[in-house]
Amino acid sequence: MALVVQKFGGTSVADPQKILAAARKAVARHAAGDRVVVVVSAMGHQTDHLVDLARQITPRPSAREMDMLLSTGEQVSVALFAMATQSLGVEAVSLTGAQIGIRTDSTHTKARIRSISTDHTRKLLDSGAIVIAAGFQGIDQHGNITTLGRGGSDTTAVALAAVLGADLCEIYTDVDGVYTTDPRVLPEARRLPSISYDEMLELASLGAGVMHPRSIEFAKKFGVPVLVRSSFRDVPGTLIVAADRATPRPASGVALAKDEARITIEGVPDQPGSSHALFSRLAASGIAVDMIVQNVGQHGRADISFTVPADDREQALELSAAVARALHAAAVSHDADLAKVSVVGVGMAREQGVAGRMFSALAAEGINVRMITTSEIKISVLVDKTDGPAAVRAVHRAFALDRETVDDLSGGPTASLGRSSPLDVVNRLEGMEDLAIEDCILDASQALVTFIDLPDTPGVAADVFEEVGRAHLFVDMIVQSHPTGGRAELSFTVPAADRDRATTVARKIAAARGGTVADVPHVAKLSITGVGIRSHAGVADRLFKPLADEGINIDLVSTSEVRLNVVVAADQGERSLAVLRQAFGLG
Ligand code: ADP
Ligand code: ASP
Ligand code: MG
Repeated sequence: MALVVQKFGGTSVADPQKILAAARKAVARHAAGDRVVVVVSAMGHQTDHLVDLARQITPRPSAREMDMLLSTGEQVSVALFAMATQSLGVEAVSLTGAQIGIRTDSTHTKARIRSISTDHTRKLLDSGAIVIAAGFQGIDQHGNITTLGRGGSDTTAVALAAVLGADLCEIYTDVDGVYTTDPRVLPEARRLPSISYDEMLELASLGAGVMHPRSIEFAKKFGVPVLVRSSFRDVPGTLIVAADRATPRPASGVALAKDEARITIEGVPDQPGSSHALFSRLAASGIAVDMIVQNVGQHGRADISFTVPADDREQALELSAAVARALHAAAVSHDADLAKVSVVGVGMAREQGVAGRMFSALAAEGINVRMITTSEIKISVLVDKTDGPAAVRAVHRAFALDRETVDDLSGGPTASLGRSSPLDVVNRLEGMEDLAIEDCILDASQALVTFIDLPDTPGVAADVFEEVGRAHLFVDMIVQSHPTGGRAELSFTVPAADRDRATTVARKIAAARGGTVADVPHVAKLSITGVGIRSHAGVADRLFKPLADEGINIDLVSTSEVRLNVVVAADQGERSLAVLRQAFGLG
């Protein structure tokens, strides 16, 4: 007898007929002898309507009252779902977040789950009932109703599956599964039979709206298999599982974040502590930043750029301006109307020429790349918002994601059911959804090559990485700064043994395109691994402070949901490692 959590999204319960159809799925599972917990979203666009109502009262409704209001959407749908289940002859009990015992922190409208009690739910399941749980909501320690952020019912479902020890969490939605990119943006997108937690976490947090990213944090930490499938068609769906059960590919998908803003603090004194001053302020306001790029300081000054979702731009700008004044920086510049396009794949790190392929595809479309950051499993570029869809199409095609592949799960998704073991770090967490840091390691085997004053024209990055690819050089980190004065800075790391060849290639391009090349024969790269690294505001801050306190300067940074990399001078590698291990509680 298995325990299954089934989640139904808004479109899947949009009207009474759909609620009845969804209830039939739960009843069928129950009839097959399984214990069933159902998590339901608000009906159709009910949450949007409620948001709109609030806005008609006041442009700035208080966050607590927003939560009180929005939580009603799910209260309606669980009650109707329970009635539907009962009408089909099976005992069902609907519960609000508070009644289940989903305890959260008090960050209204984006609360994080601290704990979930399972006693009540288990008793009901033992009695033979189907439990119908309201998604997206919880209760804080003072008894206030909280919500988990838009799309948060996925997170409720996977978190419940985690604590109940469920064998499977099924996410019923309006698409057939997880696609190589949003099928509504690109019709040639294909459904993936399976995808690893890391890839899904990355895709979701970089803009793929099909899953709430925080749900995948839970899935990975607790080893819960998640099956995304259609509410309306009986087709196999996509299984989200641990990497050893998913098929590694150089690229699994492309994500588009349609509305991003870039902020640059120009002329920051290039000294330890500047980055900390900035990112601690942003973290304190709960703003999660991405694509942090700091160019190598010239004349003792550097530019620090980062991106935030457009919604956070105003607040991020205000905070940046204040920090810039305090640091006596030259200026703060910003750009809205940008889009972030990312390609994600766990097999990427083992392949040569991945970067070249991506940048060439963009160059062929005449798309200018405004910033670049990479991690082991993804490459992100910042482009003009109007170029976003074309960039997605070009990259999707460049990685042959539009082509059919053989279904890699022999016997269909259900053949690979069963939980993976939870990560060790889970036992050390105070709250279930706390940031989970697993390890910090030092890699002293790489060299750093930097183009300074590279012209800001389409195709430059393509030129560089096509040449690098032709020379069969393995590139690890790539960072391209936001151009100031029409010139950008582009850095990448290669194995130290390849430094001469890499520098020769770089000089050749600099001779043709302009710019100069600087290289460092040995650098130290520190990698912190864990879950939810980018989306938990404050990780960058926790990284920068201890290094600044030790007087260690950071040359390059790159972040992803599962990894944070920094490059420092080779002779500071060991000390940085010790400092970071301590800062992140790794003993
Ligand atoms: P629900 O209401 O069921 O939670 P959502 O609207 O949150 O559904 O998520 C499903 C939608 O996610 C799809 O309709 C699709 O447009 C969008 N989407 C974005 N990226 C992807 C992707 N890579 N694969 C599948 N769907 C995606
Ligand atoms: N009803 C909430 C929303 O629309 C939560 C969810 O559907 O996941 O965002
Ligand atoms: Mg959703």
